[in-house]
Amino acid sequence: MARYSGPVCRLCRREGLKLFLKGERCYTEKCAYERRAYVPGMHGQARRSKVSEYGRQLREKQKVKRMYGLMEKQFRHYYKLAAKREGVTGENLLRYLERRLDNTVYRLGFAVSRAEARQIVRHNHILVNGRRCNIPSAQVKVGDVIEIREKSREQARLTESLEAVDRRGVPAWLEAEPKHFKGKVTSLPQRADVTAPIEERLIVELYSK
Ligand code: SF4
Repeated sequence: MARYSGPVCRLCRREGLKLFLKGERCYTEKCAYERRAYVPGMHGQARRSKVSEYGRQLREKQKVKRMYGLMEKQFRHYYKLAAKREGVTGENLLRYLERRLDNTVYRLGFAVSRAEARQIVRHNHILVNGRRCNIPSAQVKVGDVIEIREKSREQARLTESLEAVDRRGVPAWLEAEPKHFKGKVTSLPQRADVTAPIEERLIVELYSK
């Protein structure tokens, strides 16, 4: 599946929010958004005209899509799945995004960003219930045990990311055992577990037009 490979700090500046796409750097004064909190480009600092309702919906969709590192086709696919399920579509959508294996690896603190988590999964460093799984989009289920393969545990960046997770915290739907390089899915992610400022209602309104 394709992925965005351009400059990522630009995306935070475009969305007017820190999306935490670069790991440790995001928490330092080197963060580009901290230094230039305006839209990138030649007219970035010019006064913006009022944003239409459609504009707000579009920006919200772009923001969440970029946060989880997805392309349009994949993101829309999750929306379709979410709309078919019982319950609130927006919450279903967030649940699908949270349950991705790359996101789970990130949430457990095995990577400093979702992009790094995706790479760790792709490079065969992750076991799900004792079996190798290298599909970043795989959906984790309640009871799944996610762990770092024994051979991969020595990596320096893994130690760094396990230290960094203290700052982010592990969500309530996961139980992390950093000493054993593993974690368990104890329940399905709830809306309250997604603490990033997301108005999923706007995304649903956009796609249901
Ligand atoms: Fe966004 Fe992180 Fe870059 Fe800051 S350092 S602009 S939070 S990706």
